[in-house]
Amino acid sequence: MAKQLQSYRSIIGDKAVETILDKSRHLSGKRILHVNSTRSGGGVAEILQQLVALMQSLGIDAEWRILAGKEPFFKVTKKIHNSLQGQAGTLSDWEKEIYHQTNSYYADFSPINHDIVIIHDPQPLPQVHLHEKTQPWIWRCHIDLTRPNPDFWEHLRPFVAEYDRMIVSTPEYRKADVDVEQHVFQPAIDPLSDKNRELSGRQITSLFQKYQIPRDKPLITQVSRFDPWKDPRGVLEVYKKVKATCDARMLFCFNSADDDPEGVRVYEEMCHLAADEIASGDVLFVRGDDPLLVNALQRESSVILQKSKREGFGLTVSEAMWKGTPVVASRVGGIPLQIKDGVSGYLVGPQDIDAAANRVTTLLSHPKKAGIIGRNAKERVREHFLITRLLSDYIDLFTEVLESKQYQPTGTRATALAGMVINAL
Ligand code: UDP
Repeated sequence: MAKQLQSYRSIIGDKAVETILDKSRHLSGKRILHVNSTRSGGGVAEILQQLVALMQSLGIDAEWRILAGKEPFFKVTKKIHNSLQGQAGTLSDWEKEIYHQTNSYYADFSPINHDIVIIHDPQPLPQVHLHEKTQPWIWRCHIDLTRPNPDFWEHLRPFVAEYDRMIVSTPEYRKADVDVEQHVFQPAIDPLSDKNRELSGRQITSLFQKYQIPRDKPLITQVSRFDPWKDPRGVLEVYKKVKATCDARMLFCFNSADDDPEGVRVYEEMCHLAADEIASGDVLFVRGDDPLLVNALQRESSVILQKSKREGFGLTVSEAMWKGTPVVASRVGGIPLQIKDGVSGYLVGPQDIDAAANRVTTLLSHPKKAGIIGRNAKERVREHFLITRLLSDYIDLFTEVLESKQYQPTGTRATALAGMVINAL
């Protein structure tokens, strides 16, 4: 069934729904293009799946395109992603060429005549150079930009400067060295998607049976791609400490994304590190490709862990909070915006295995406390991190950019760019 804003009335109230309907009316028929680099896996794809449908339900002609590169491209863009989050290293000339060539080929086959273009993350960032820019362009950066590797940032900065607006998830991610108006708004979850909608006890039971997940012990779960930033090794360490005093099972719910080629390596590493616990059935690795299963796991787990070392926002945190499940998470990136420590979850230092284990143990052994924290968590998400709020933020921004500037065709920028890219190599 098509998504309809009306269906959110019971969750956010009539007034909030009417406000969105009123302020979006003038956008009816406007052509809005979102571009990212994967259809599934990861938070950006998760958001776009829901957000584009909601925009369409308002009469906005919203479109979602994927820059579908091959593995060498995604190896380079994962390196760029990691370096923007602070990892050391440099980009070789060959890697720069792969990045720019793939963008260039994509631009040739992806004509743009929309009213607004939103480019998500660094993979398609150079697109702004490769098209006649006759409309506002927005760069939506979902990653933690507080301490980027300077070489990489310097390489990307001229592209960022071409945009009319930039959106980041926390005030700390704003960049003082680009002359682009920067907006701060957080990602959000869709309470009516299969990932987050209510499930009955019977549905949960049948999902656990279908995927053969035992329910004889309390579950501690981390829902994440196998990515070093999500620190699966640290999660295992935390679990081992918890297990010394509490009998619980650790479940790693994982999936993969086309634009993240590191998953297989980290998965194999983890199979090796957790071999004993996997053999004894204490640790489970479960593929989370079915959103209903992820939903059931986030509802049924006693504690959700999100022990990331860096986290642009961390949708998984809001997803679990919405289900009233207490979360223990690292105090990094966008996570402290979601969790108020001790009130709507627990925050720990990203390296602090002991603190994480203590918090998990407390929640396992004090169900009443866990219940209060879970209820607070749900209300926090209702207030700040539902997709209707994100939709509203986009509508305000679209209204502003369409009113603020007249876009005139500027000639064939693509030709000029070809020269720029070659010079940059
Ligand atoms: N996810 C999933 N199955 C999995 C692991 C993750 O569906 O096995 C989803 C998760 O529910 C969330 C998204 O992938 O919606 C991850 O978003 P987040 O912002 O937490 O992290 P990212 O992967 O974007 O760094």
